[in-house]
Amino acid sequence: MRAGISTPVSKEFIFHTDVDWMKRVPKLLGIVLGKHICFSMPAEFIPPTLFRHELEHVYQQIRDGRVRFYLNYIYYQIRYRGYDNNPYEIEAYEKQHFPLQESEEQALWSLRENSPH
Ligand SMILES: [Zn+2]
Repeated sequence: MRAGISTPVSKEFIFHTDVDWMKRVPKLLGIVLGKHICFSMPAEFIPPTLFRHELEHVYQQIRDGRVRFYLNYIYYQIRYRGYDNNPYEIEAYEKQHFPLQESEEQALWSLRENSPH
């Protein structure tokens, strides 16, 4: 699906699923780029933990500010020598196991309902 749909998570954010260019990047399953929440797989195959992980990056952006989030993220990548020790990733990996809140579950379901088969 190319066109994004907005969801109850935030009207400001747009989901994209089955993103072609991501399939060519090894191990890249999900990424948040500004207001775009992107997944490499079709909506029905997005694991809830991955969905929750990417939403956590959305919440980090909202909490810290978008520009600051990306500047911090780059700084952390250097300071903590990569992805595994980046505090934003540590937080997202911890919280990805939290149960989906109602609005998050709605977002995942509406994504699945709106995805073409
Ligand atoms: Zn992450």
